[in-house]
Amino acid sequence: MKLQIKITLALAAISWLALAVRAGAAKPAAVDEPAFREFLKGYEARVIPLSRDAALANFQASISGREEDYQRAADLQIRLNRIHADAQGYARLKAFKEGGLVREPLLRRQMDILFNAFLGNQIPDAQMEAMVKLQSQIEQKFNTFRIRLDDKVLSDNDAEAILRTATDSGQLERVWKSSKEIGRLVAPNILKLVGMRNAAARQLGFANFQQMQLRLGEQDPAQIEALFDELDGLTSGGFAGLKNDIDAFLAARCGIAREQLQPWHYQNRFFQEAPVIYPLDLDSYYKDKDVVALARDYYDGIGLHVDDIIARSDLYEKPGKYQHAFSSDIDRAGDARVLCSVKPDSYWMNTLLHEFGHSVYSKYNDRSLPWLLRDAAHSFTTEAVANLFGRFAASPSWLHAVAGVSAAECERIRPDSRRSLRLQQMVFSRWAQVMFRFEKSMYENPGQDLNRRWWELAEKYQLLKMPAGRNEPDWASKIHIALYPCYYHNYLLGELLASQLYYHIAGPVLKSPDLEDQCFVNRPEAGRYLIAKVFKPGMRWPWAEMIERACGEKLTAAYYARQFVGAK
Ligand SMILES: [Zn+2]
Repeated sequence: MKLQIKITLALAAISWLALAVRAGAAKPAAVDEPAFREFLKGYEARVIPLSRDAALANFQASISGREEDYQRAADLQIRLNRIHADAQGYARLKAFKEGGLVREPLLRRQMDILFNAFLGNQIPDAQMEAMVKLQSQIEQKFNTFRIRLDDKVLSDNDAEAILRTATDSGQLERVWKSSKEIGRLVAPNILKLVGMRNAAARQLGFANFQQMQLRLGEQDPAQIEALFDELDGLTSGGFAGLKNDIDAFLAARCGIAREQLQPWHYQNRFFQEAPVIYPLDLDSYYKDKDVVALARDYYDGIGLHVDDIIARSDLYEKPGKYQHAFSSDIDRAGDARVLCSVKPDSYWMNTLLHEFGHSVYSKYNDRSLPWLLRDAAHSFTTEAVANLFGRFAASPSWLHAVAGVSAAECERIRPDSRRSLRLQQMVFSRWAQVMFRFEKSMYENPGQDLNRRWWELAEKYQLLKMPAGRNEPDWASKIHIALYPCYYHNYLLGELLASQLYYHIAGPVLKSPDLEDQCFVNRPEAGRYLIAKVFKPGMRWPWAEMIERACGEKLTAAYYARQFVGAK
């Protein structure tokens, strides 16, 4: 009931604002702080209840899987997007920004965030609609496409399982090639979409769409590229060594000479995950454990309490339920919850620790901050906290201290555990280089030979060999290129920051004598540090400033390299 009154008042305020803008020709609308406060009040009154409803509806739909629940969630999301597409709102924000009279730091910060949120949505309706339509056509094609092996239809899981376990080169080749056929089906539409995205970005004053996406996320394209270059320099030698080990292992496994290795031998469609080359069976340590209780006890011990989060969460398998995992900050006022389908294995242990990392970031925000600033500094900063904790599921020290695995067993697996973690990170980081550089290059010059460009990058960064004579749009078979454009680099930034936070907590915060393989068990100082320096600041500062204040230095690839590139 209360909610409805709020919305009505807000709409009244907004139409008054609209009138003020129209009358602006005679008497310009005020652009000072009091006027911006009024604008913000109107915005908050509409957006706060709506975004809460949208988050709840989405959580509900993900549990039930019912069409009508998804429809309701989509409708609310569209209403939310429309607010940011409002041209008059954007014009006012632009005037506030150019007027230079909004000086109070928190107000100015909110003005900047809102300006970017509106700017990215200032695309004419018809154009926006055409892009959304193309995108959903592509999505549909991805959803209905099936990989085949000869005349057998495979689920994605089955295909991945064959790539991981089969040793017959002919079979691997057929499955891999079949998995790439989606590329040919969607490439023409993706190219259309790239053209439209670039046109929209240019209308809004950006060089191209990739530049726009980064800038709207307060990322300077040149700085991000410099970070990727730094990481390339730090990992290329180590990766070449590891790639040698991988090649020796896989060639022997498939009974072929090294020179005969092809992209389909790497146990993954894109070589984005590490092939299993070390004998390590982490699942065995979790198979009779209550992974939810382990996660709760661990977080309790570092002073980040998740009991209330667990109570609101939906953690176990259900028919029709969404099968991946996510954490949702429902109201930015303490209601954070997790959706997943827990089983007692290492994947879900990692996932649970990961998702609770997102949740505690949300839960321990600063309620005295304005609503708009009560969010993660950037999506990759919350990803970093989630990764920091998720990685512990494979840490021998953690297995010993939290999951009760014997000290002797932990010592036994320590070398292979370390090698596996390093291999995973190195393989992923080289793959992320390909994605970042391909998207940048594609939006700069969509007319180039993209099929060729994709393989040039895979050869350079992943040390893969293009199959002889191949000229197919293999780039288009990666769904992120079409549907989650220019976002992939954030996954790697999240890994870099996870390592940086890890060393900062292990070193300056906890003063551990040995900085490797720490897991902060029963060290509430670790939780206190994260709350004070990472969670509570929220969006008060741009992400780069938050990191510098929290770690005493800028985001760097050095700690990631130290953690994963070091000696074998
Ligand atoms: Zn995550």
